[in-house]
Amino acid sequence: MKGIVLFLAVALTSGLLMASAVNLPGVPVDFEVDDKVLSAIADDISERLAKEYVTYLKTGIETAAFKKLTQQLAKSHSQKDIFTRNMPDLEPRDSFFVCVACRSVMRVFIRTIREEEGELHGEGSSALMKDFAMDFCRRLNLQTEEVCEGLIDSNLPSVEYIMRNSESDSQSFCSLFMEFSFCNTGTNQDYNWTLTVDDSVQPLTSSKSDTDRYSESDLKICQFTDIHHDPLYEPGSLASCAEPMCCQRNKDTVEGTSEAAGYWGDYRDCDLPWHTFESALNHAVANHKCDYVYQTGDIVDHMVWATSVEKNTAVLTKVSQRLNEAFGDVPVYPCIGNHEPHPLNLFSPEGVPDEISTKWLYEHLYNDWSKWLPAETKETILKGGYYTVSPKPGFRIIALNSNDCYTDNFWLYHSGTDKIPQLQWFHDTLLAAEKAGEYVHVLTHIPSGDGTCWSVWAREFNRCITRFSSTISGIFTGHSHKDEIFVYYSEQGHATAVAWNGGAVTTFSNKNPNYRVYDVSQTSHVITNHRTFIFNVTEANLTPDEEPKWFEEYQFMNEFTEDTSPAGIDKLLDELASNPELMRKYWRFRVTQGDPYLKGGCDRTCLAGSLCRAAVTVNTETKRCEELRAKLYAALDNEGNTTPGDGGNTTPGDGGSSPGTTPGDEDDGGGGSATLTLLSISSLLAIVLATRLSF
Ligand SMILES: [Zn+2]
Ligand SMILES: [Zn+2]
Repeated sequence: MKGIVLFLAVALTSGLLMASAVNLPGVPVDFEVDDKVLSAIADDISERLAKEYVTYLKTGIETAAFKKLTQQLAKSHSQKDIFTRNMPDLEPRDSFFVCVACRSVMRVFIRTIREEEGELHGEGSSALMKDFAMDFCRRLNLQTEEVCEGLIDSNLPSVEYIMRNSESDSQSFCSLFMEFSFCNTGTNQDYNWTLTVDDSVQPLTSSKSDTDRYSESDLKICQFTDIHHDPLYEPGSLASCAEPMCCQRNKDTVEGTSEAAGYWGDYRDCDLPWHTFESALNHAVANHKCDYVYQTGDIVDHMVWATSVEKNTAVLTKVSQRLNEAFGDVPVYPCIGNHEPHPLNLFSPEGVPDEISTKWLYEHLYNDWSKWLPAETKETILKGGYYTVSPKPGFRIIALNSNDCYTDNFWLYHSGTDKIPQLQWFHDTLLAAEKAGEYVHVLTHIPSGDGTCWSVWAREFNRCITRFSSTISGIFTGHSHKDEIFVYYSEQGHATAVAWNGGAVTTFSNKNPNYRVYDVSQTSHVITNHRTFIFNVTEANLTPDEEPKWFEEYQFMNEFTEDTSPAGIDKLLDELASNPELMRKYWRFRVTQGDPYLKGGCDRTCLAGSLCRAAVTVNTETKRCEELRAKLYAALDNEGNTTPGDGGNTTPGDGGSSPGTTPGDEDDGGGGSATLTLLSISSLLAIVLATRLSF
């Protein structure tokens, strides 16, 4: 195996030399590299780096090769994107770097912690591990000292436990982390299970259609998602900083300049001030009679390196209490986001030591939520943060803890099979609902097709959605901070369900705050229409003393279709693909018409990415997405190759990420691409050469 790896790496090195040597006018700047080859190169580099690191840890001597390799890697990535963007949205050079860094760190940990003779084996080695992690962070220029130290301090105890108690090798570990890309090479069978799904009804023979249409007597369900309240938000402070989140500090030096954070929020990497959250609630309460409220997760801010049990619980309770005050007797049905725990993203299984357990969060959330939920939800909430409740006869809500699928939740690497019980419970609850003649709404924070949602979990989730498509009337998600839809399909390609993604109350990043009101059939509980409410951040900040001017951005049925059945929305996707103007409208709403987005525009790739995503609910299954992409490209070609607003390069609010990127909207539906530009080829080449020279 090693021989093959070396051969491939050397072969590609010469290929790359050729590609660089022909860097001449007229030569395409895109260069397709096979995923297996890329993976082999990443593996080769990470093996070399890990070896050098272990030697360095043992002897304290930095060899010339070690220095050269780490210096090259340090220069090969952008600093902020790898912390603020989702893995599937990274540029190729950053994906490559993250894969190499992940495999190297895991190799060092496995060799030094898990092996009996390992330098860090045994108790009392945490300080050494921290030294290693801090050194890695500094040497590879990952983030500021403060951010690295904060993240390492909070994550290390859990990571150490997981590394000591799991069998994963570096490839399996990192392939889960980046399973949509070349980094995915793991084959561990614990990570490929199937659920037991009831087969007592006939499989679907067509898409679900002919559902109820809008009626004035429909129920109103209000959705607030991704509130991300920042208790330290300071109007006038520095809005474009080096850390992953800003708008908290340096007020004395930047107030009154263009660097300063706005009063009502800021497009740059900043979260929500309290007064803006209040403004959203006040507007909703004054203008709508919500029958129910859905809160679909991510209450806590993006200051991910400085979470704590005290800080997180204080924010969670403050937001819950305010929701309760605002809506009084109207029940609020919440689900958990990935930002709720400390450390960020980590949801432990039951039975691990208290100091690394998530039990405290589940207990805290049950206390916060018990004003809306019956006592029988306590058992499953304490077990794993999920529950079911029937707000009225014939209608049931199932709230999942989708962090079981989240590949940034390191506990996924501890065991793949302990993610079965919640999904099996989901299936069993749906089966019971079907028998009782109930219609079900599913609340789940992370859309299952997201590139960060583990595909095995998503595949089994999809099997449940297909099996119970007549029982499930709607799925409600958040997490992407985008106003978007997702269509679920059966294996035969029939549309089975629609997930409605509610955008985000926070401005993070480049967006206007929004909330959403759904019209829901009184009988079948399908979503017949929705209205989205926003205000413009730039405009609101001109008059800090006046309430922001919230307005109805659009009504779904007026702008797109009155047929909101899965078949109707599936048809809409085809219309979006064949009508670029309609697609551009979808995109503008998708990004809540945030000024930086509108200024940057959405080119072909961006439009195709925004459309493609809507047809992906398992990130490795992209057939329908590719079909739509091809159709849209053909329609764009017919238009004459000019796209209005195309080609914005630098954008305000891009906050220090690499130049030439539009604001974080390069997602392509979860299907990662191994296309490297010449820019990344040259940095990759430098790393490969550094590795080769060190032999
Ligand atoms: Zn969020
Ligand atoms: Zn989230």
